[in-house]
Amino acid sequence: MDKNTYDVVIVGGGIMGSSTAYFLMSNDARLKVAVVEMDPTYTRASSALSMANTRIQFSLKQNIQISQYAFEFLERFEDKMVVGEDKPNIAYRREGNLFLVDESGRSTAREALDLQKNLGCKVEWWSLEKIKQRYPLYDLSGLAGGTFGPEDGHLDAYAVLMGFKAKARSLGAEYINDEVIQLMSVGGRISGVKLASGEKLTSKFVVNCAGAWAAKVARTTGVELPVEPVKRQVFVLDPAVKPEGPLPLTFLPSGLYFRTETGNQILVGKSLEEDPVGFDFNWDDKRFTEVLWPELAAFVPAFDTLKLIRGWAGLYAVNTLDGNAILGEWPGLKGFFLANGFSGHGLQQGPAVGRYISELIIGTPPILDLSIFRPERILENKPLSEAGLV
Ligand SMILES: Cc1cc2nc3c(=O)[nH]c(=O)nc-3n(C[C@H](O)[C@H](O)[C@H](O)COP(=O)(O)OP(=O)(O)OC[C@H]3O[C@@H](n4cnc5c(N)ncnc54)[C@H](O)[C@@H]3O)c2cc1C
Repeated sequence: MDKNTYDVVIVGGGIMGSSTAYFLMSNDARLKVAVVEMDPTYTRASSALSMANTRIQFSLKQNIQISQYAFEFLERFEDKMVVGEDKPNIAYRREGNLFLVDESGRSTAREALDLQKNLGCKVEWWSLEKIKQRYPLYDLSGLAGGTFGPEDGHLDAYAVLMGFKAKARSLGAEYINDEVIQLMSVGGRISGVKLASGEKLTSKFVVNCAGAWAAKVARTTGVELPVEPVKRQVFVLDPAVKPEGPLPLTFLPSGLYFRTETGNQILVGKSLEEDPVGFDFNWDDKRFTEVLWPELAAFVPAFDTLKLIRGWAGLYAVNTLDGNAILGEWPGLKGFFLANGFSGHGLQQGPAVGRYISELIIGTPPILDLSIFRPERILENKPLSEAGLV
């Protein structure tokens, strides 16, 4: 095979690209796989800027199954990703997620809870009394209760990304530091990519794993994806009153969420309608002091005295059709595969998605049927419904 000819070219080496490369190589070590990544420092990649939460608490069966797969995979991740003497440490801490609801949200939450339980997940309905007993700092006025996922948690996202990448490389995947500026196709079939350096890579399979840049990449071959880069911000706080023990990732009905971080810090965030679309990575302390803090302090009065230590901004790749993943081959362009539109829950979907895309390309029956996320639904305008979007 010619030096610039590959079996599969992956555009973007974040969690999706690196997981896909790992599964391709571990399924068939003879494959020649290239991962083109324009920023190997991952400064702007969502995978490195995420809250790194993992949860079972979704309402769509397939999103729950994706998380079940992730839970099992992540428990064994450090052993699976060993390269020589190097074993990643992903700091996987399962401290739980608590989704609070008011009366209007009770029935939707209970429906999702029943589905999760029917699928064999550990998740519980918590009364206000139970919540107050466990987390006495919370002011629960106006709420009806909550669902608690004891196996939900968080991890070191960068370490997971590096773990996948190192293992994929050790199995033979080639990472190329360059930018894909053009997808190439001939007669309704993808044929490769053009790079900013002037090189051309030839391949019958190209996978779009470009995260918030996915629509820009797809457009170079005339494919319009409903995926927008939307700025989201997270703030790191040092409260005067330190909670006893870890607080779970706690979601209020308004969308505000927070949890404890190592070193007695609190991480807090909230997706807002007015969050700008575009490639803007500046965080704004006024967003915290004027918008989030009053809401946080009303719910946890002890947090009325705290120090804002820092913040950061990253991009959700928002699927404007339905906020869910877009997975599979684009109809009308053979060999062009998508792993896009993960909005705010893609990190935990990395393992199952990488596996699924590799199975579609290699042609083995998928262990998880994720065809509900097929790209055709965009053209048919058939959105999926998921109540657990954050
Ligand atoms: C603030 C925030 C909090 C989040 N919290 C969570 C959470 O708690 N749990 C969760 O599961 N998810 C969370 N997410 C979402 C999650 O981070 C993403 O869904 C996931 O990381 C997407 O991975 P990706 O590989 O698709 O994208 P990315 O990690 O962004 O990777 C895409 C890569 O493609 C590269 N690229 C783009 N265009 C090109 C090109 N033309 N040529 C070469 N390379 C290119 C980019 O440089 C980038 O490295 C959060 C996201 C943000 C921003």
